[in-house]
Amino acid sequence: MKVPFLSLKPIHEEIGAALDAACDRVLRSGWYVLGPEVEAFEEKFAAYCGTKHCVGVGNGLDAMMLVLRAWGVGEGHEVIVPSNTYIATWLAVSYAGARPVPVEPDEATYNIDPERIERAITRRTRAILPVHLYGQAADMAPIREIGKRRGIPVLEDAAQAHGARYRGKRAGALGNAAAFSFYPTKNLGAFGDAGAVTMDDKRLAQKVRALRNYGSRKRYVNEVKGVNSRLDPMQAALLGARLDTLDVWNERRARIASRYMAAFEDLPLVLPATLPESAHAWHLFVVRSKRRKAFREALQARGVGTDVHYPTPPHLQRAYAELKMRKGAFPISERIHREVVSLPIGPHMSEAEVDHVIEQVRASA
Ligand SMILES: *Cc1c(COP(=O)(O)O)cnc(C)c1O
Repeated sequence: MKVPFLSLKPIHEEIGAALDAACDRVLRSGWYVLGPEVEAFEEKFAAYCGTKHCVGVGNGLDAMMLVLRAWGVGEGHEVIVPSNTYIATWLAVSYAGARPVPVEPDEATYNIDPERIERAITRRTRAILPVHLYGQAADMAPIREIGKRRGIPVLEDAAQAHGARYRGKRAGALGNAAAFSFYPTKNLGAFGDAGAVTMDDKRLAQKVRALRNYGSRKRYVNEVKGVNSRLDPMQAALLGARLDTLDVWNERRARIASRYMAAFEDLPLVLPATLPESAHAWHLFVVRSKRRKAFREALQARGVGTDVHYPTPPHLQRAYAELKMRKGAFPISERIHREVVSLPIGPHMSEAEVDHVIEQVRASA
């Protein structure tokens, strides 16, 4: 038996009829940029997250960058980001014209450590950008408290956390605004690139709406230098159909995660730590191994695909050479990056596939 790390084909096999109907509706509508399909998805996703507004954009990177720009973040400013994340979080800050200021994670949850945030704040800090890494919400209560006390807005990078909850509230409703990616592999994925911002603040929604569309609120009237980053109506229609199954599919992920947790308890692997106040969306099931290379090769030979999220932290990427942050600058993050392995998890894994992964991980760890 072979279990790939991830396969997206079963999505269409399960809900193909709804997806085909959504495509057909858009094709026949004669309306191919913004318009009613985008508005309908924005309303549906805001209601799902529990926010007043949602603005559909082109991708997750733009979602973050446009919020930062709408908040006036730019040249000479700093934004606090996790040292342990996908590079997109940092790039959004750079594209807004500001400087990413990395803060180390809590080594158990992998999410930004609230206690270290305060020490990183300077006169130039204009936003805090926590990531809900792997699908578990960052510890948002202390982060919001710091933000409120210091007058610094908090933007969630919720790209991996569609449907996750923290103290009863959904990711997307945990900060002053949240950015989502609907990259195809995410828990709520499009069939191409797509993203969205959620927020309660009406003025922020209006600003992001203008920024995503050339800075224009009224046709041919440009108040600011915006970009072209509009959620595509075809993707919006497909996402609307997929949103109907998000909770059920996240439950399937959670069931697999709890089987893995029980089955791997006695192995020399560090298993994911879950916070009691949060419901994990299980975007990824990440373990840590001191002998990652051998572990991955053994699994590969036994027909189990794995991945690494992520092999190199942003501060050691050539793209950020200008920050002159050397190896050893963020030791917790570097240690995590050296040891993490992502195992197959997804709403379409069969019981037999999960059994196979368990058996082979037990034989390889
Ligand atoms: C996927 C992802 C993004 C970027 O999303 P795109 O839609 O590819 O721009 C940003 N942050 C995190 C944590 C992600 O996983």
